[in-house]
Amino acid sequence: MTFSPDLLTANDVPGQHAASFYSATADTKTNYPQLAGDVSCDVCVVGGGYTGLSTALHLAERGYDVVLLEANRVGWGASGRNGGQVSPGQRVGQTTLEKRHGAAHAKELWDLSLQSMELLHSLIKTHHIKCDFTPGLIEAVHRKDWVDELKEDLDHYRDTYGYDQIEFLNGTKIRDYVDSPAYFAGALNHGGGHLHPLNFALGLASAAEAAGAKLFETSRVTRIDPGDTVRVHLETGAVRAKHVVLGCNGYLGELDPTTARHIMPINNYIIATEPFSESEAEKLIAKGRAVADTKFVINYFRMSADRRLLFGGGETYKYDFPTDIKSFVRKPMLEIFPQLKDVKIEYGWGGTLAITTKRMPYFARLTPNILSASGYSGHGVAMATLAGQICAEAVDGTASRFDVFEQINLPAFPGGVRFRYPLLVLAMTWFAMRDRLGI
Ligand SMILES: Cc1cc2nc3c(=O)[nH]c(=O)nc-3n(C[C@H](O)[C@H](O)[C@H](O)COP(=O)(O)OP(=O)(O)OC[C@H]3O[C@@H](n4cnc5c(N)ncnc54)[C@H](O)[C@@H]3O)c2cc1C
Repeated sequence: MTFSPDLLTANDVPGQHAASFYSATADTKTNYPQLAGDVSCDVCVVGGGYTGLSTALHLAERGYDVVLLEANRVGWGASGRNGGQVSPGQRVGQTTLEKRHGAAHAKELWDLSLQSMELLHSLIKTHHIKCDFTPGLIEAVHRKDWVDELKEDLDHYRDTYGYDQIEFLNGTKIRDYVDSPAYFAGALNHGGGHLHPLNFALGLASAAEAAGAKLFETSRVTRIDPGDTVRVHLETGAVRAKHVVLGCNGYLGELDPTTARHIMPINNYIIATEPFSESEAEKLIAKGRAVADTKFVINYFRMSADRRLLFGGGETYKYDFPTDIKSFVRKPMLEIFPQLKDVKIEYGWGGTLAITTKRMPYFARLTPNILSASGYSGHGVAMATLAGQICAEAVDGTASRFDVFEQINLPAFPGGVRFRYPLLVLAMTWFAMRDRLGI
């Protein structure tokens, strides 16, 4: 087991998007310059995923002089490789948030999740981002004894939050939607959906550039010196900025030790099959819905625009990707869809996300003029995009939405940056084993 490899280089070719279905079907290829020499700006954003791109876009729209530094390509990280699933709600359910933080704070977090969805839709519309957004996300329940709990949950969302977009699917209905013997019930959230994640990221990059942000690729930050003017160092130059926003998520490494103590990188994997015919695709997953199940190591799947099954799952608790990702993820895919045993797998890729101790995002003011947002715990497509807008607002002097997240006051991982990982492996292995044993 390795403890802290350099995840910016460990599993991928630096400077190139991962060889995924998404990069093979990307709308554009980016070729932003490498930063060379010394430059000054109002705000330097580190990281070219949804967090960084959305921060840059929203600050440039407010008239700030913005420099964004991305170590590889924009959308190279989790933002260009994920399952593309989005829905209202935080990664953690509202009843848990109410118990942890009280009703008022839980409601603010719920409202922010709705705002993240509104923002996503408005960005797609305003900037004409072609990312195949398709509505409808199903949560599929894999344990019979959890079905009543699901029904209570849906009542709670309707009665307490006035959210009536979730339809309960009984055992027959879930099978109408998902041709698998694995599920006992489901919840179809009409407010959720799925999209092409890399094309969404590339669309944000074009929008940020059009708004005036200066984007740099293959521009890895090596050190940050805080101060009234922050100095951001690269091997090829340096940036002097009045403010810095860090959006490095699972690829942060030890660039900032405070953020590093609060997040944990985890790898997750996706495969794409050969395309299905229209009728085969409709039989497998009806009406183009996306699905995520209730297993501890979540299986999530959906059809791409060209009707390939994109199936994600199979977390590993070590930092090197498996040598054969296609076979690795094929296994959970066949547990859900045994009928696909002869179907060809054409793509397989992995990515690194960041989780936190309480599976809620980590927002922090590291110094008065350095902000950090990350740790979306597998729920970052809409949330990281919102985080960028919120960081932009905070730089501009309005921190009320930033504070709602900061006040979650997430504990750091026990064991520090070096020993957090083996401790987590023990805990995760136990939960995954409970899943397999059904206890
Ligand atoms: C396989 C997988 C499936 C997922 N599925 C879903 C899903 O279905 N739905 C959902 O909501 N979320 C999902 N997620 C999570 C989601 O993708 C992330 O939460 C989100 O993309 C985070 O965006 P980000 O901008 O914070 O980080 P990233 O997109 O990872 O971007 C961080 C960027 O920072 C750059 N960087 C790091 N260090 C430096 C440095 N020193 N200098 C310069 N640049 C640097 C990296 O190169 C990287 O491009 C998934 C993640 C993975 C990996």
